[in-house]
Amino acid sequence: MLSDRVSYFTESVIRETTRLANQFQALNLGQGMPDFDPHPDLKEAACKAIRDGYNQYAVTWGIASLRQAIAGKMRTFNKLEWCDADAHITVCCGATECMMATMLALINPGDEVIIFQPFYENYGPDALLTGAKRVFVTLRAPDWSFDRDELRKAFNSKTKAIIINTPNNPTGKVFNREELEFIAQLCQEHNAFALSDEIYEYIQYTDRPHISIASLPGMANRTVTISGLSKTFSVTGWRLGYCVAPPEITSGIRKAHDFLTVGAPHPLQVAGTAAIGFGEAYYAKLKSDYLHRRQIFLPYLQEAGFEFHAPDGAYYVMCDFSKMGWNNDVEFVRTMIEKVGVAGVPGSSFYEPKELGRTKVRFMFAKKDETLHKAGEKLVKLRQKMPAA
Ligand code: PLP
Repeated sequence: MLSDRVSYFTESVIRETTRLANQFQALNLGQGMPDFDPHPDLKEAACKAIRDGYNQYAVTWGIASLRQAIAGKMRTFNKLEWCDADAHITVCCGATECMMATMLALINPGDEVIIFQPFYENYGPDALLTGAKRVFVTLRAPDWSFDRDELRKAFNSKTKAIIINTPNNPTGKVFNREELEFIAQLCQEHNAFALSDEIYEYIQYTDRPHISIASLPGMANRTVTISGLSKTFSVTGWRLGYCVAPPEITSGIRKAHDFLTVGAPHPLQVAGTAAIGFGEAYYAKLKSDYLHRRQIFLPYLQEAGFEFHAPDGAYYVMCDFSKMGWNNDVEFVRTMIEKVGVAGVPGSSFYEPKELGRTKVRFMFAKKDETLHKAGEKLVKLRQKMPAA
């Protein structure tokens, strides 16, 4: 009865894990949502926008003040000096819709899309919904680097796009300049687009500046940069994201966006404009807060016996539990939720074929200190509570 299109993929494992965590009242270190509030000024700005009457549809590609604020941020933080609010920016319902609208605007059935794996779960179905053929290139543990020859071989005349996510979910990898230059060179040689999801751009643990691939020579006209407010401002429920694309691609993204969702929530766009104006002090505190959470959480994982590479960015850590005597990620996570009271996401949901992630689990640490301590203490007892067979 269902269409072939939705039969190609299963329900999101991440969201399924959240349901299971709720059922067993486990601490949810699975789905990427903070358990703390956004900045109080932001909550007040949202309430004020509703009181001030911004309650009807916004102009479909995003209110002018928000697009102008984003353009300013793209010119300074992302070094896209050419970025213009009208020519390049579309505001969508989250980075999630941005990626879908971008793929619908660019990809024809049969086109090939290169995806680094492990990958953020949505990219798989996004590509399938457009009829693309997915070509996976593996980021290899422990440091999640890729093999240049493998990547070169993945490109051919059918390659339409490559998806990059830096800082990366689920590995915490931050692609360095040399890696981005190599990818940029391959995109130019093969007339392909870079779809660059930079939603964690402000959450990085090194002193190196964030690099947007669109800022590299020759990439402005072949990159769609995607970001949003969910992670930077801890407002995952507001559903505000944006695409920065060359004008002709922007016209396609706007068409797809118009028919997918008509527009992002109007009062939250007004509040989002205020958020982008917060300035440097806000971003510095965001970074130090996440460094602090990472510092709390990683030692617990080590003590519990997980193997992992400390993330350079984003708020996830991808762990291997094979040395702990387990070998099935789905069983491991289910048992952990039921017996230990902590949820993570099974590693297989980030891989194709799934077997590549069978001994892995992803934890997220965008949580209050007390939640991280509680979860960490439970994880340390994990081997007592669920000894390997
Ligand atoms: N992109 C990546 C890499 C993510 O990890 C997530 C959420 O976890 C999203 C996009 C979703 O972003 P949004 O809330 O803006 O739709």
